[in-house]
Amino acid sequence: MTIRVVLDETEIPTHWYNILADLPSPLPPPLGPDGQPVSPDKMLAIFPGPILEQEMSSERWIPIPDEVRKVYALWRPSPLCRAARLEAMLGTPAKIFYKYEGVSPAGSHKPNSAVPQAYLNKIAGTKRLVTETGAGQWGSSLALAGQLFGLPVRVFMVKVSYQQKPYRRLMMQTWGADVVASPTHLTQAGREILAKEPDNPGSLGIAISEAVEEAVTVPGTKYALGSVLNHVLLHQTVIGLEAKKQFEKLGLYPDVIFAPCGGGSNFGGAAFPFLADKAAGDARAKNLRCVAVEPASCPTLTRGVYAYDYGDATGYTPLMKMYTLGHDFMPPGIHAGGLRYHGDSPIVSLLYHEKLIEAVAVPQVATFEAGVMFARAEGIIPAPESCHGIRATIDEALRCKASGEPKVLFFNLSGHGHFDLSAYESYFAGKLEDFAYPREAVEASLAHLPKVG
Ligand SMILES: *Cc1c(COP(=O)(O)O)cnc(C)c1O
Repeated sequence: MTIRVVLDETEIPTHWYNILADLPSPLPPPLGPDGQPVSPDKMLAIFPGPILEQEMSSERWIPIPDEVRKVYALWRPSPLCRAARLEAMLGTPAKIFYKYEGVSPAGSHKPNSAVPQAYLNKIAGTKRLVTETGAGQWGSSLALAGQLFGLPVRVFMVKVSYQQKPYRRLMMQTWGADVVASPTHLTQAGREILAKEPDNPGSLGIAISEAVEEAVTVPGTKYALGSVLNHVLLHQTVIGLEAKKQFEKLGLYPDVIFAPCGGGSNFGGAAFPFLADKAAGDARAKNLRCVAVEPASCPTLTRGVYAYDYGDATGYTPLMKMYTLGHDFMPPGIHAGGLRYHGDSPIVSLLYHEKLIEAVAVPQVATFEAGVMFARAEGIIPAPESCHGIRATIDEALRCKASGEPKVLFFNLSGHGHFDLSAYESYFAGKLEDFAYPREAVEASLAHLPKVG
């Protein structure tokens, strides 16, 4: 039995797959506050031309620059592994495979997009990048990528995380980034908040506002985002493209694909290349199911509405048509920080609305139970976000056990949990909570949806 399928670096994909070429209906455009589509000029103040081109392209295949493939080769192709010991532990006839993205230097899939974003900014003449980060997964990935292409990076890190999670901050500093605790006195947005509330602990919404403000006001500075947008999902398709080659070597094809879903980038990256087969009428993909897995306490796809909403908490960004819980919805403090987002990728949202993909929501304690089971069977300690995908995969494997179906299950192990062990500590101490679905908070927030589109 093959346990680990490894490709060599010549097999790193040469092109990203752009699902915009195969969507069942056109993607609704981003809108300005006046309800009109945002002009590319306005976007150019924030993102460089080559990134905006990718954001709006409908070419099916987009070349991966050689310089990006060379950096990808530091850890890609990532392995596809068979979780045979987990199968045995569960007593399931299902075959369980996972793609391990924790092999990147930052420990997650996020460098797959940070690297091309830094490169495309560099060739467009950008002098400096700014971004925001919560727990630090995206900030550390961009710090790494900026360092590799000689671009200074400033990271607005949410203040409570800055104080409570020193290790990812130190990773960013090791890779040369300037990390500041948001809200700061460096921006108008930050100063206004601090004037009212000097001890404000910060939030992702505030950090986004600070980073975007700096990109717009400081010459030579551009902003980089780690999920949600079309170009980010495009970059992440290296995951699924490699996985397809790896499944081909095994002579297998997945029946069900699972991935954790916050903004949708690792889910899209893993699933879209397989959905391309479905769009092309490939018989193997006829009954393929792709399942986005989200937290029960922040259930954007399964309980949100499909509407135009802001991408940030303060209403600074363009409006995007997406599943949303409302831009001022504050999700409960679960440990899977990467899944605490009120919205979702517009592409993932459209596919879900058209019933081409599925979604499921899982409660926090059950995700850690699944993560610990996985670590004990397979060795790797998964990130709390990744535990969501593992939970849903285990549940499907147990259904296969009941029905006797030997399905091929594939999940994306989006990152390792080495910097999240305090969350595991809470789980072992019995202190982890299952937050109930915050119905009233969501209803209150949805009442504030902008009235456009
Ligand atoms: C950021 C993150 C996620 C969630 O983001 P997506 O854009 O939905 O992929 C999932 N897993 C890990 C390890 C992350 O760092």
